[in-house]
Amino acid sequence: MKLTVVGCSGSFPSAESACSSYLVEADGFRLLLDMGNGALGELQRHCGLYDLDAIFLSHLHADHCIDMCAYFVARYYRHDGGPCPPIPVYGPEGTEHRLTTAYADTPTASSMSEVFDFHTVKPSTFDLGPFTVHTERVSHPVEAYAIRVEHAGKSLTYSGDTGVTDALEGLARDTDLFLCEAAFTHGKENIPDLHLNGREAGETAARAGARKLVLTHIPPWTDPTVNLADAREAFDGPVELAAPRVTYEI
Ligand SMILES: [Zn+2]
Ligand SMILES: [Zn+2]
Repeated sequence: MKLTVVGCSGSFPSAESACSSYLVEADGFRLLLDMGNGALGELQRHCGLYDLDAIFLSHLHADHCIDMCAYFVARYYRHDGGPCPPIPVYGPEGTEHRLTTAYADTPTASSMSEVFDFHTVKPSTFDLGPFTVHTERVSHPVEAYAIRVEHAGKSLTYSGDTGVTDALEGLARDTDLFLCEAAFTHGKENIPDLHLNGREAGETAARAGARKLVLTHIPPWTDPTVNLADAREAFDGPVELAAPRVTYEI
């Protein structure tokens, strides 16, 4: 499978990157993980506006889901051919209400569901196109999920937003690519059940036996080189920083 970093800025967009959004492709199927601020624009560099097959929203903080409002416009008011058929959207309980409220002016209370086929995520395993997907609840102020995507014997694990939790370590067991948030800086911010720092991301990767660690969701006010160095101290395997438009073959 192929992973493309569409956006990787934490909490709010940077001059260089949209917020969280990652395109996962295999066998011609396109799964988008999160659609944060600015992601819809950048996404169009990598695939057609209507070429997605499914969307997974890790949680309902704006930096992970708010461009779904813009995507609603693109699908509902499509210029050629009328409204798009509903695309599967997997998100936490209340996703439809959250997006409808954020949009504030949908034609009817159920307009979102005309172009999005909402599925409520729980900790589970299910098939999604050519992928087998595992989800686990992680540790964040709102209901939030990490996801493991498997295809042809390989796996990608994405943390979403989380503090330190055994659930993430279990989900990332022996994973080929661990896309893990590192929003905080070790020794600077220490709020439990919110975000990981570079060291904690590295420690989680080491305990899980991940093969490769890619740090993501670093906010513009944080020095990524510090988090990268902290992660490398804790994890012996390869570590790098996510960057927009970078792709990985997994
Ligand atoms: Zn976030
Ligand atoms: Zn969040």
